[in-house]
Amino acid sequence: MATSPDAAPPSARVFNIMRFSTHDGPGIRTTVFFKGCPLACEWCHNPESQRSQSEVLYFEERCRHCLDCAAACPHHAISESGGVPITSAACHLCGVCTEACAAEARQIAGRRVSLAELVAEVKRDQVFFEESGGGVTLSGGEPLAQSRFVSSFLGACRREGIHTVLETCGYVYAETFRQVAYQADLVYFDLKLIDPTAHHQRTGVSNRLILHNLQGLAASGRPVTVRIPVIPGVNDSVDEIRHFTACLTDVGIRNVELLPYHRIGSEKYRRLGRTYTLGDIPQPAPEDLGRFRDALTHAGLHATIGGLS
Ligand code: SF4
Ligand code: SF4
Repeated sequence: MATSPDAAPPSARVFNIMRFSTHDGPGIRTTVFFKGCPLACEWCHNPESQRSQSEVLYFEERCRHCLDCAAACPHHAISESGGVPITSAACHLCGVCTEACAAEARQIAGRRVSLAELVAEVKRDQVFFEESGGGVTLSGGEPLAQSRFVSSFLGACRREGIHTVLETCGYVYAETFRQVAYQADLVYFDLKLIDPTAHHQRTGVSNRLILHNLQGLAASGRPVTVRIPVIPGVNDSVDEIRHFTACLTDVGIRNVELLPYHRIGSEKYRRLGRTYTLGDIPQPAPEDLGRFRDALTHAGLHATIGGLS
């Protein structure tokens, strides 16, 4: 299901707030990572972002196998297998075990923040935003999965004179997309694949609505940069590069950033008790990234190669 306007009160679930970021838009930025995403990309390097509810992360390498966590759990949700604590579905995400673990081997990914709390948090760095031309970046997960809150937050940032970047996958009902995404000063639109069958296979959803929203955004004249994660063997074939070039020029996009794939997030899958299904894919070679960029440039697009995606 695409994301529709949610009816939640003005609070949101986030899993990280990163201050002093220099890779998520112009200047120095505070990046807010919203929890929950309608896509399930195989290469996702933030798997803790995918589910809308909070989750327990377990850092095996830090664990001393003392089982203090199991003893502390008020819901008896932790059992033991060979000294390793195993969390069951009975977990209430209360966080008691994280307090009990002296080794900091357990964390809860996800917490609720109110609008007032989040605005106060980002305003702490307003002086750095003003000096550097920075601001706030909304990332995730998919921020528009919590569209009502994000709309209020973008409005609050505007009133405070804080520049905003919205990073989105675009899989959101068209009306919601127009109402909320267009409030951002700049949209980073993440586009994974043009081939519809491959998109569905690799992300779990159709790209029809995504391309519709991209077309509307480009036609609106609002600032947008399309960001493509370049994943060898997934979306960097000669045919797919041709599809990207044709689609982006058709739609009227000007700025494109290529983000080379990396495996840095693959370790997180184990911490969440999940499996990284993409396999052993290498980082794209510089010459292959260069070929991709040149194809876009020759079509009249302004294409750059960014940091690791
Ligand atoms: S309390 Fe921490 S260190 Fe001890 S078993 Fe639990 S996770 Fe491991
Ligand atoms: S978060 Fe709470 S319920 Fe879940 S395992 Fe830890 S102590 Fe038990």
